Amino acid sequence: MDGHIDLQRKGAADAPFYLAQGDECALFHAASENDLPVLLKGPTGCGKTRFVAHMAAQLGRPLYTVACHDDLSAADLIGRYLLKGGETVWVDGPLTRAVREGAICYLDEVVEARKDVTVVLHPLTDDRRILPIDRTGEEIEAAPGFMLVASYNPGYQNILKTLKPSTRQRFVAMEFDFPAPDLETRIVAQESGLSEDRTAALVRLAGKLRALKGQDLEEGVSTRLVIYAATLIARGMPVERAVEAAMIEPLTDDADTKRGLLDLVTAIF
Ligand code: ADP
Repeated sequence: MDGHIDLQRKGAADAPFYLAQGDECALFHAASENDLPVLLKGPTGCGKTRFVAHMAAQLGRPLYTVACHDDLSAADLIGRYLLKGGETVWVDGPLTRAVREGAICYLDEVVEARKDVTVVLHPLTDDRRILPIDRTGEEIEAAPGFMLVASYNPGYQNILKTLKPSTRQRFVAMEFDFPAPDLETRIVAQESGLSEDRTAALVRLAGKLRALKGQDLEEGVSTRLVIYAATLIARGMPVERAVEAAMIEPLTDDADTKRGLLDLVTAIF
């Protein structure tokens, strides 16, 4: 199983829109110039993937994005022998391609992947910068420009699925959170086409829903969901219906909690 693998090649001119929350662009830039691997920590849907896509374009490097899942193994990243037209041929996985090409490899939600994945990352994240491929006997030195970026959501996994210190301490780590309300309003308005005035109320509601995290809700509403709600409203859906579908239903299945959240909506709109 390959996970979802995505190759992007973009230049600075068509870098995807990203509004910085602080000095993360400068930090990422400095890390990339010094061959340091980067770990992005933060809740789902707060802009980590967009940030990496933006930075890859700014730096003019190809980007291989792998959405990790619990079945993803080292072989999915490195490659495997496949039968092609009666012949067995070696096919590089996305990590190997990135190592050879000097690309950025982004492992999204890396803690979800199988344990053997972290073993592969170790020799790539110290100054050796090599990828040993046991199956072919090759040992590939990372091409200039290769950068390993991984993300995880510290608040969400169970305790068994956290990164081990021996792995974590190989990365420069950056913490992400939901953007401050004024920034989030600009982001949501830009992504959805809804006016900033109307977006501001959605962002206020998102703040209230996030404050309930840990009480009634496991996760606060993500920027992604606020964008969904704004997009539905911009396309003519009534506000309450759009908010219910995009910002409430995805958060909980519990009928009482849902009713409580809908009351919050009525209080704000
Ligand atoms: P994550 O990788 O943290 O789960 P994403 O990067 O996919 O989250 O963010 C979800 C969506 O939120 C993006 O597709 C983008 O539309 C929007 N977004 C979040 N933060 C920003 C930001 N700082 N600038 C621009 N868009 C953002």
